[in-house]
Amino acid sequence: MLAALGKGLRDEFPNPERAGCPGREIIAAIAAHRMPLTEAEPYLDHLGSCSPCYRDFVGLQAKYHQRRTRMILAVAAGVLIVVGLGTWTMLRQQNQQIAAVVDLRDRSMARGTELPPTDRPLEIPRNVSQLEVYLPLGSAEGAYAVRVTAKQGQTISSGNGNAQVEQGATVLKVDLKPALSASGMYLLEIRRSQSEWGSFPMRVH
Ligand SMILES: [Zn+2]
Repeated sequence: MLAALGKGLRDEFPNPERAGCPGREIIAAIAAHRMPLTEAEPYLDHLGSCSPCYRDFVGLQAKYHQRRTRMILAVAAGVLIVVGLGTWTMLRQQNQQIAAVVDLRDRSMARGTELPPTDRPLEIPRNVSQLEVYLPLGSAEGAYAVRVTAKQGQTISSGNGNAQVEQGATVLKVDLKPALSASGMYLLEIRRSQSEWGSFPMRVH
C-alpha cells in the first residue's frame, strides 16, 4: 500500500513552479537522516504533497543508502585486511622458529657432567627453538628428553622428541621451550627414557 501511495505521490502533485519547495539541501538532509525529525517535520507535509520534491527525496534517499552500504562495505573490507595482516604476521612469526642441526654422530654419550675435555663445544645461533639432533652412532630409536642447562645446573630450556633412524643416522627432532635467547656456554643434555643424561658442551652465539 505504501508503494502504491509512493507511486501516486510521484505524479499526483505536479508543482512546476516549485511553489513552497524547501530546496534540495533540506530534502537531502532529510533523506540522509542528517536532520532531526522534529526539525524535518514541517517539511514532511510538503514532501507528501509535492511530486517533484517527493521524487527528489526518493532519489536522494536511494543515493544515501547506496553510499552508506558502500561505506560499510569499505570499512568491513578494511577490518578484514587488518585482521588478515595481523594473522599473517602472527603466522609468519610462528613460522620463524629457528632450527639448528646438532651432529653428535662422532661423539659418545658422556655420563653425568664429567665432560671429556677434548670435545669441542657444539655451536648454535641464538633464538633456536627447534633442534635436529643426529644422535651418537648406534643410538636407539624412541622417546628422548632434551634439556639445556647453564653451568650452575639450572635448566634453561627443555623438550621431548621421538628419535627415528633416517638413512643410517638416529635423528631426534625436538622443540625447545623456551627458545635459547641468551648467548653463552651451556650443556646440551640428552637422555633416552629413564637412563642417565648424556652431556655435551654447547655454545649459543
Ligand atoms: Zn516541493
